[in-house]
Amino acid sequence: MSNKYKILVVEDENNIRNFIKTILETNGYQVLCANNGSNGKTMFLSHCPNLVILDLGLPDMDGLDLIRGIREEFATPIIILSARTNEIDKVKALDLGANDYVTKPFGTNEFLARVRATLRSTRQEEGERQVGKSFTVNNMTIDYERRSIVLDGEEIKLTQTEYNIVELLSIHAGRVLTYSEIIKKIWGYADAGSVKKLQVNMANIRKKFHEKPGENKYIKNELSVGYSFKDEEK
Ligand code: CA
Repeated sequence: MSNKYKILVVEDENNIRNFIKTILETNGYQVLCANNGSNGKTMFLSHCPNLVILDLGLPDMDGLDLIRGIREEFATPIIILSARTNEIDKVKALDLGANDYVTKPFGTNEFLARVRATLRSTRQEEGERQVGKSFTVNNMTIDYERRSIVLDGEEIKLTQTEYNIVELLSIHAGRVLTYSEIIKKIWGYADAGSVKKLQVNMANIRKKFHEKPGENKYIKNELSVGYSFKDEEK
């Protein structure tokens, strides 16, 4: 894989910033660093990175505002760094358009896997995977044209809603979609019962996919955040 991606790291904590810079450079990425939000914004605009790693707790601005600013004009993927205690900020960041998140403290392997998956899913969204083609992972093939799903040679019978959810998640494989993002796209509106309705559909889908509890062969439940579909190359 081409490793000449330019990655901007916006993080005020020196230790974490240097740690990320080192592991990314060791793996062949080009790294730019900013220690606060306004430097981050300036560097983003002058260097056009392929990916932004963004800490939400910055000294001069809320990381969420930086996401908002970038998303007004750019689709550049963003992975946020967040503390375990900040579930709400995580969800807000994903709803604003961040692509994924890494919870501190994190390990090198998990971090690099997230970076690769995010860069890969962005490439796919840019055109490699188009509606009308199919998607295959772990003995499952989703045929977008026929709206059918075959698992281990057998067609899985899903309701329209269940299929729509699977299609949505699989098109964005490797990326976490929040509950509200999925609900908006599937039902077009949200009410008090929406999350429950989504969870019931998801439980049925997982059952039809023969997923055992705790097993994430196809769909991963990102607790109190949303769901992600297994990426084909992972
Ligand atoms: Ca911080």
